Amino acid sequence: MPDLMPQSSPASSEPLLVVEGLTKYFPIRRGFFKRVVGQVKAVDHVDFYVQEGETLGLVGESGCGKTTTGRCILRAIEPTDGRILFRDPKLGRVDICKLDKEQIRLVRRNIRMIFQDPYASLNPRMTLLDIVGAPLRAMGLAHGKELEDRVAQMLQLVGLRPEYMRRYPHAFSGGQRQRIGLARALAPYPKFVVCDEPVSALDVSVQAQILNLLEDLQEQMGLTYLFVAHDLSVVAHISDRVAVMYVGKIVELASTAELFSSPKHPYTEALLSAIPLPDPRPREKRVLLTGEVANPANPPSGCYFHPRCSYAEEICKTHEPEFDEVTPGHYVKCHFGRELSLTGVVRMPDR
Ligand code: SF4
Repeated sequence: MPDLMPQSSPASSEPLLVVEGLTKYFPIRRGFFKRVVGQVKAVDHVDFYVQEGETLGLVGESGCGKTTTGRCILRAIEPTDGRILFRDPKLGRVDICKLDKEQIRLVRRNIRMIFQDPYASLNPRMTLLDIVGAPLRAMGLAHGKELEDRVAQMLQLVGLRPEYMRRYPHAFSGGQRQRIGLARALAPYPKFVVCDEPVSALDVSVQAQILNLLEDLQEQMGLTYLFVAHDLSVVAHISDRVAVMYVGKIVELASTAELFSSPKHPYTEALLSAIPLPDPRPREKRVLLTGEVANPANPPSGCYFHPRCSYAEEICKTHEPEFDEVTPGHYVKCHFGRELSLTGVVRMPDR
């Protein structure tokens, strides 16, 4: 495993979250006795860290394991293997994978999730007061008038009027519903938020408003984000660093500026090439991905990307590449990451 920790690491710069060798396999069962006949390798030995106050973007196609990674961090699903170290203000440094039920309940005050679908994630029978107040009530953080005041404050913070608190979700638009979801997630004043495709279900015109709001709230509340998305152009606007996932593995990780301007993995190059630019002239070439995403239940040998990679050579079919630090802080899982000259994006489109 490569050493992904920041080089100068005095106690104050210790990352808020460190993920080491995180693995999640789902068993495939067949027959009358439901015998295990295989494994879907949804997340396969993933390593990264997130510094306090930072936003790490986690990007990849549907089914690459990015949402599963986020759900493991919350222990919404049980990881198969690995460590998730979190610096909790009360519990100190803990391995989330090893916590008991009561400790998980405590940690979840500080690790929250924002969901993709603002329609499905809000109970239509509950008022905003009930929805936003639910985590406060469940964690015993506020009751009665104090709870109402906190809900009013959260609604204001996300740009909704406190008078709305007795209304039901159906009275609100998609963008407003996502604001309600944000208020619910942030009501306990967490430290770390997993944003699971929070703008994917919204109109493009509303996406920018929610992204700006997320940035403002990060500054005001000192939040740290893991921002999960399938769209690199969304991630570009909010992330300090970006990790690209392919079939359960991180294949490239770098600062946002470097990953976009100077990608080192052919898969990243292809994803960048798919971003629509306002002026297509600066684009030197278009990289079209052919073939299907590899099956995580039966991935190809060697580099998982080799059947779709236009730079593949014989070694790619037989040997899995290392996760190599090609320049300081820029990691790539490709045999030719140091040699290939790939095309990036110089100027991102405005949102
Ligand atoms: Fe392509 Fe080979 Fe690099 Fe995999 S290791 S991305 S197949 S060049």
